[in-house]
Amino acid sequence: MITFYPGPSKIYPQVAQYLQDAYAEGILSVNHRSLECMDITRGAIEILHQKLHIPRDYRIYFISSATEAWEIIAQSLTIRQSVHFFNGAFGKKWAEYTEKIVPEVQKITFDLETLPDLATLEPFSDVVCITQNETSNGTQIVDLQPFRQAFSEALIAVDVTSSFGGITLDWVQADLWFASVQKCLGLPAGMGIMIVSPKALERALQINDRKFYNSLLFIDENFQQFQTHYTPNVLGIYLLNKVLSNISDISIISERIKQQSIDWYSFFENSPYNAGTVLVKNKTVRSDTVLAIQGTTEEIDNIKNKTKAKGITIGNGYGIWKNTTYRVANFPAIEENEIKALQSILKDSK
Ligand SMILES: *Cc1c(COP(=O)(O)O)cnc(C)c1O
Repeated sequence: MITFYPGPSKIYPQVAQYLQDAYAEGILSVNHRSLECMDITRGAIEILHQKLHIPRDYRIYFISSATEAWEIIAQSLTIRQSVHFFNGAFGKKWAEYTEKIVPEVQKITFDLETLPDLATLEPFSDVVCITQNETSNGTQIVDLQPFRQAFSEALIAVDVTSSFGGITLDWVQADLWFASVQKCLGLPAGMGIMIVSPKALERALQINDRKFYNSLLFIDENFQQFQTHYTPNVLGIYLLNKVLSNISDISIISERIKQQSIDWYSFFENSPYNAGTVLVKNKTVRSDTVLAIQGTTEEIDNIKNKTKAKGITIGNGYGIWKNTTYRVANFPAIEENEIKALQSILKDSK
């Protein structure tokens, strides 16, 4: 099966062997407080630091999903107010979810083709929430430094669910980063990753939330011993460890993904194929890892049917773009011959 769905997405083919190994090594039955399990967790954290160049003083936790990070940030890291910048469905959901927990939520929406205007905003020191890669519409915010500069006191929280493991990220520009394993990391769904700066940990201590099973301080206390606050997805941690050990450094992956995205965009822009047009016109805000392609409902249905008939899954549109776009994941586990196969169908989509 070939899939370009932007999550859950294509898993690395090596995962088939790793699953067998996991069974043979008996790790599927290990106790989560055992030394064996702690070793797997320690190894996975170490390899994340190495391969993705995550600073040593940033903590890494395994949680159940990216969505859980929205909750942890609202419960354990927000004093009373968060400001959410978004232009699409995931950023919006994050804000709406946070509204149920946090007393004051400010929503700042911006256009698909632009970046938010930070100049007019008042100083703010609580939590600033940014969706770096908006999976619903294929946009991204490349540079996070302007947020850091505009809100130097605040904690900057960034949703990188659909770019983490695909492109290089400038870790020091934010305090909280989170993602899921089922997107650019090419793993089966069922685990989230949260990355926390020293400044964020300090804030958590100041807030001292200890009311919930997933309060950040409990999570941190457990991870100090390479344990988790819940019985974890041991297989997920094992697979993460294995996959990361065997893939290239993020600098190499990122270069390939960025080149592939340039090729993909020019495929749609310079082609007479009638395979749809790129939803986002402004090149500087186009996502490297998720492309949204627009057409009439009829055109989109036609393309979906054609690809499906050839055994290739493309991503449905999302939210308000549900019927008038389709999405193409440009994730590292997808191979060149698969891209060629999809392009040859799209060329033929008249
Ligand atoms: C997929 C996705 C999520 C949700 O991830 P889960 O692990 O399923 O909770 C959140 N944000 C963005 C930007 C996503 O692409």
